[in-house]
Amino acid sequence: MSDVYTCPKCPTLFESIYLSGNFPGGKEREDIDCPNCGHTVDTDVTSAVVSTREITGERKAAYLAKQQPAAPARTDIRTPPPMLDSPLTITLDAEAMASLNGYRQAYHAWSMHPGTGPKGAQLNLELAETAAALAKALARLAQ
Ligand SMILES: [Zn+2]
Repeated sequence: MSDVYTCPKCPTLFESIYLSGNFPGGKEREDIDCPNCGHTVDTDVTSAVVSTREITGERKAAYLAKQQPAAPARTDIRTPPPMLDSPLTITLDAEAMASLNGYRQAYHAWSMHPGTGPKGAQLNLELAETAAALAKALARLAQ
């Protein structure tokens, strides 16, 4: 029977060892001390004598690996935004209003033009750019 402790004073990982035998005195409160710094980490009432032993090497690595919670989400990977699934009211700020006006103007110009030639290509580009700016503004406000 043994328990594993981590010392709060120094990060020593250790286990308690219960040495049972014909010790006189019956049950007593035994300190469970860090084998490295001597800090009393716990006590236990036992008829055994409690010793402690540092856990090192592979056993320590295995113990720590078992204790580790699942790796947290890497913060350098952007998670996709949650899906918006209910009606949303957004108040357009000045920047978003400008984006909407820009898109409306571009859409009007684009819809009034046959869409061919350099002028047409320019209007297509302006429509795409203003649409992207508007989408960006809405996404920003919808947070
Ligand atoms: Zn310690």
